[in-house]
Amino acid sequence: MKLYPIETGNFKLDGGAMFGIVPKVIWQKTNPADEKNLIDLAMRCLLIEDGDRLILIDTGIGKKQDAKFFGFYYLWGDATLDRSLEKKGFHRDDITDVFLTHLHFDHCGGAIQYNQEKDYLEASFKNAKFWSNAEHWDWAINPNPREKASFLKENILPMQESGQLNFIDVPTIGNRLENSPLGFDILFVDGHTDKQMLPIIHYKGKKLVFIADLIPCAGHIPLIYVIGYDTRPLLTVDEKAHFLEEAVKNDYILFFEHDSQHELATLKQTEKGVRLDQTYSFSEVFEAQ
Ligand SMILES: [Zn+2]
Repeated sequence: MKLYPIETGNFKLDGGAMFGIVPKVIWQKTNPADEKNLIDLAMRCLLIEDGDRLILIDTGIGKKQDAKFFGFYYLWGDATLDRSLEKKGFHRDDITDVFLTHLHFDHCGGAIQYNQEKDYLEASFKNAKFWSNAEHWDWAINPNPREKASFLKENILPMQESGQLNFIDVPTIGNRLENSPLGFDILFVDGHTDKQMLPIIHYKGKKLVFIADLIPCAGHIPLIYVIGYDTRPLLTVDEKAHFLEEAVKNDYILFFEHDSQHELATLKQTEKGVRLDQTYSFSEVFEAQ
């Protein structure tokens, strides 16, 4: 098995919204804001080459939305999904599985593209199965008013219409699925949105967690640093508390989807609670061996 971080481009969001109740004087130390109070965020995906399977975790924002939509998100940087795949020697048509942590636009927008010739929306990975779960899918296609702007039907419905949609079974007991159909373990969390799925991947003797929107950036590690967008912030606190404890005990390495400066981090227990130990680039940890 081989893993590759795949940068799909960066965007910006309001720093206050990204840090909930944490005051700006504190969060700006790790995530400096620009003159509009926006902070830099990555959309970093992870590619898993495992035998004859090529699994992409999340897809970035994609490119089919109009200028007005992208105007709200200040895309920046040169990276695109296609260029990043090409650098690793792959093409999007090689992808056999697209695993979606959840269906917010910054995670799944790249799954669907606009076919100009035929004037319709189609899967941008024509040979792939898309993976979500039934509970999250129902939540996403019947969105509540707070998440409505994040669940865009044009990002979601075409996966089903093309016949490529598959569901992971949500465990009936506990929040962990070992040995999912994708080969990795999955942790289910409900604070950000219903049944967000976080892959835990055993790789080169280490446990790598694709931490998505439970801990978007290294600056979000302290327990109550919860995103303002979360639908159930107190539940996130609870889920984070369990996760952080487990992560320290098991030496998990966090893989950040949204941290534009840091790819990986380790954690440590301190008197104040679990905190960042060290950040690393992916190659420092996994390619030096
Ligand atoms: Zn996100």
